[in-house]
Amino acid sequence: MEPMKFRLCVAALLATALTSTAASREVAVTIDDLPTASVLGNDLDAAQQTTEALLAALTRNNVPAIGFVNESKLRVGGQIDPRRVALLSQWLDAGLELGNHTFSHVDFHSTPLDVYERQVLDGEKVTSQLLQGRGKRIRYFRHPFLHAGRSAPERQRFEEFLKQHGYIVAPITIDNYDYVFAAAYDRAGARHDVTAQGTIADAYISYMEAVTAYYERQSVAIVGREVRQTLLIHASALNAATLDRLASMFRIRGYRFISLDRALEDPAYRHADGYYGPAGITWLHRWAMTDGKPGTIFAGEPDVPAWIEQASR
Ligand SMILES: [Zn+2]
Repeated sequence: MEPMKFRLCVAALLATALTSTAASREVAVTIDDLPTASVLGNDLDAAQQTTEALLAALTRNNVPAIGFVNESKLRVGGQIDPRRVALLSQWLDAGLELGNHTFSHVDFHSTPLDVYERQVLDGEKVTSQLLQGRGKRIRYFRHPFLHAGRSAPERQRFEEFLKQHGYIVAPITIDNYDYVFAAAYDRAGARHDVTAQGTIADAYISYMEAVTAYYERQSVAIVGREVRQTLLIHASALNAATLDRLASMFRIRGYRFISLDRALEDPAYRHADGYYGPAGITWLHRWAMTDGKPGTIFAGEPDVPAWIEQASR
């Protein structure tokens, strides 16, 4: 074989190998703080626009996402607002799943267990009813702040409670600071600064790609392979505006979008979580801590640019 042809051949083989490795990547998209999350407050028009754009993009990109609800946001002056309940119906109409994120986004680490459990029950009322009307039931629970308990007995008691009420804990592997970018984006929007919003959106997509690459490497370092990833993002105007770009970033990296059900079938998620520290961290790092991996394993997480931090305040 001529050297040139040989090189081409090797290049072709490599390309095939890369494509087939990459094509096997899978990610479940989980979206928190429904109906919507904004630092500007709970404005109905904005919530409707965000929901509409987010759901349209999820549908366009065939993303079988799950949304985690804070039902306190359905209330105005203590009364349930049917227009806000309608936002949740839109999620279900789009064929997406809804889970429980506590009634008012309380912190497991600073809330007595009985109050926290009450928050779970208060947080499922409307969502359960909507699901029931469609012959479905609520199945997943996501801890606010990813705070999953400071001691083994406390976590065990709570997980027993969840089981009794038919819940599965929804872990995540790809953690990130999307909400810091989202805050900067909301504030730029309030100033009608479209240019700044565009710059923030660009920085967000670059950041998310770096984060995704980081957790691909972390997965290999901690589990020995790339697991079916679970991404956490929030129901923000930023994600509504950039979901097409976010989805194509994942597709270009060889991902296909899967349900949370399918992600959790990956045996990696059966790993014990022996982390009881104060931080809200990815399950990948919980598994690493449980296995006694050295602290150096956490190095290299992409930073949020300082100007984004500044603009978020
Ligand atoms: Zn949350």
